[in-house]
Amino acid sequence: MLIDGHGRRVDYLRISLTERCNFRCQYCMPEKPFSWVPKENLLSFEELFMFVKVAIDEGVNKIRLTGGEPLLREDIDTFIAMIYDYKSDIDIALTTNGFLLAQSAQRLKNAGLKRLNISLDSLKSDVAAKIAGKDVLKTVLEGIEKALDVGLGVKLNMVPLLGINDGEIVDILEYSKAKGLKVRFIEYMENVHANSEIRGMHGREILSKIKEKYHIKALGREGASPSFNYKLLENGYEFGLIDPHKHDFCESCNRIRLTAEGYLIPCLYFDEAQSIAEALRVKDIKKASAILGDVLKNKPKENRWDHEELSSDDLSKRAFYETGG
Ligand code: SAM
Ligand code: SF4
Repeated sequence: MLIDGHGRRVDYLRISLTERCNFRCQYCMPEKPFSWVPKENLLSFEELFMFVKVAIDEGVNKIRLTGGEPLLREDIDTFIAMIYDYKSDIDIALTTNGFLLAQSAQRLKNAGLKRLNISLDSLKSDVAAKIAGKDVLKTVLEGIEKALDVGLGVKLNMVPLLGINDGEIVDILEYSKAKGLKVRFIEYMENVHANSEIRGMHGREILSKIKEKYHIKALGREGASPSFNYKLLENGYEFGLIDPHKHDFCESCNRIRLTAEGYLIPCLYFDEAQSIAEALRVKDIKKASAILGDVLKNKPKENRWDHEELSSDDLSKRAFYETGG
């Protein structure tokens, strides 16, 4: 069993399969990075899978594939099938911008994928294009429909931004309810790679937009999920708020992250990471396990987002497109 230095059980592995992306979201990657990690520096699926097996044997029961845009990684369904064939009851999930989903949903489902989180920041073409840097809405909505058609579990993610899509919080909530999907509103997390002009919304501001139309009841966190759940009293619909700026956010953290280049990241907020790439390349599983143990021992207790105003030193230097959010 994997236990971190603060006694928290770690049973959730997030793997970023690539930092590359076909969107340029304002809050994540408004400009193409100066250089991409060369493809040869990425771990192969076979190398990643060596680590996945260690993690599963140590009690990891949930694996999320993310990025960048994970659907840009060719043959991602092969990797999903490798995990599924090793242990079919692993909760295999994927986070995607949905652009390539219509064409891949069936393959992903056949390979053993169970659930998808799809980012949907606007239902207006021009606003979606402004956020993503290109015209994406129609294709993403088709991707959502296809994922539902093939029977994948779907949740939606929205990052509300002041003056951009803040007027659509209720629209996205109602769209999600109409589709029978859960939506989670994610507080914008400040980072040096984002467009410096964008302003996120605090959880309480997001909730107050919803309260203009609905009465809501706080339900609490769902297990180790980062999402705090709420219910609309008018119709019972439940939605989530991912609020890393809240002080209790880190108490039940159960996750560890692996990047496409083989860095194990104990916490999204801090820059610390250790590489297992070399160990995996020479098939030294013992070494990779020892590094994992060390990373867990030093996993930070909490992020530093629980105060209102962040100084520039507080801004995370880690790119969301590297870590997978
Ligand atoms: N490309 C995929 C996507 O967009 O869903 C997966 C990777 S993306 C980094 C994962 C999640 O992180 C998305 O839901 C995205 O909205 C969120 N995200 C990215 N940058 C963020 C930021 N600065 N603050 C909050 N959430 C962010
Ligand atoms: Fe790409 Fe996802 Fe980042 Fe948007 S949030 S730029 S889709 S990795």
